[in-house]
Parts: sequence; structure tokens; C-alpha cells
Amino acid sequence: MLTHAARRFTNLVFGGTCLLCRGSADSTRGEGLLCAACERDLPRLDKDGLCPRCALPSAGGALCGTCLTAPPRFDATIAALAYRFPADVLIRALKFHGTLAIAALLGRLLAQCIAGATQVDAVLPVPLSAGRLRERGYNQSMEIARGVARTAALKLEPWLCERNRNTPAQVDLPHAQRARNVLGAFRCTRPLEGITVAVVDDVMTTGATLDEIAGALKEAGAARVVNWVAARTFPPQFQ
Ligand SMILES: [Zn+2]
Ligand SMILES: [Zn+2]
Repeated sequence: MLTHAARRFTNLVFGGTCLLCRGSADSTRGEGLLCAACERDLPRLDKDGLCPRCALPSAGGALCGTCLTAPPRFDATIAALAYRFPADVLIRALKFHGTLAIAALLGRLLAQCIAGATQVDAVLPVPLSAGRLRERGYNQSMEIARGVARTAALKLEPWLCERNRNTPAQVDLPHAQRARNVLGAFRCTRPLEGITVAVVDDVMTTGATLDEIAGALKEAGAARVVNWVAARTFPPQFQ
């Protein structure tokens, strides 16, 4: 929930119009970014039809074949939205146009999805390298994680793990090259003996970045790593 001052600021910037349809956004509820109809139509995911480990579609919500034969290093994934229209528009506006109020909306949607799954010791946003952070001025995953941690009363620990080099953006690379691109890119800053960490990201596509972070966290002693992502991209066979 935004403070009164933040809502007034949002109304000043967006004029109380829905970011998606230009209709009237109700400034008394949520973030005042979307009208009720657009918020209702967001492509929410039903976790009953998804693999609990990687959040790709699986019959009856069972562990999928890939996670059975070649399990990733993370233990679970919860995704709030499918990465398709209009979730893609919202995430691009957050990432590339600095529309930070969208992070509060995504954080709230994600917090609704993790209800009942909040037995975690620390919430970690996917870190950006220092160079990328300077260039962009903010970390969109950090902004989403802030909303989740606040709503679910969890401890945000952005410095638990850092990105030790600036890798080319995953989105610019073919899927097959993404695991190699992030190999060894993350380093934990302290021992994590036996704890459960929730890693927050804006979009999960191949899962290569999240897998690499889970590896670094487990190497530092974490017992369990769960991913909380605002949106999940589905490969063509699932679309
Ligand atoms: Zn609308
Ligand atoms: Zn799976």
C-alpha cells in the first residue's frame, strides 16, 4: 500500500489515468496506476498447473520432467504473472523508463502469491553490477523486493550476495549462451549456514541467472533457495 504522499505523487505523474487503457484509475485503491478492469485482466498464473520448482506448465502441478532429470539448484519458484501483454508492457516501463511505482504494484501482486509460503530468513533481490546500477540509477528487482518484504514483513537483505562483474544483458543473448554468460558472476558476502533465502527477480526466462545465484547461495551454506518472480516467460511450446 502506498503512503498518501506517494499516491499523490503518482496521481501527479499519471494524472489518475490507467497506465494501460488511459481510463480512470481509482486513486483510492492499490497504487492508483491501473483501473479495476485492467488489474483484473492481468495474466495471473495459477500455481496448480505449474511445476513447483521452475514454474513452467506441468500436468496437475507435478514436478516437470526437466526438474526430475536435471534439477536446478533452486528449490522452488513462485511467479505472479505470465510475461505477456500487458505484463510485458508494465515490466518494460519499470525497467527502461523508470516508472518505479510499477514495482509497488508488482510487489503487491507477488506478496499475494507467496501467502502461506513465507518461511524465509532473507529476501534477496537479484543484484546488478555496480556499473549497471550507476547507469540505470536503480535496481528494478530491488524495488519489487522492497514491496514484497514490506507487505509480508520479511527481512530484505540486498547485500547478501553481489554481482562481481558486469555481464552482457541476458535478454541480448540466445538462450543456449545464458548459463555461460552468468557463470561465476555472483558472490555471497557472508556465510549463510542453514538459512532459507527468497530471491526476487522481475522476469524469469531460462532461469540461468537464478540458477547461478542459487548455486552461490548454497555454496555459502544456504539450505533452501526459492525464487519469487514478478513474471514468467514460457517457451514457445507452452504458449
Ligand atoms: Zn485500464
Ligand atoms: Zn520444473
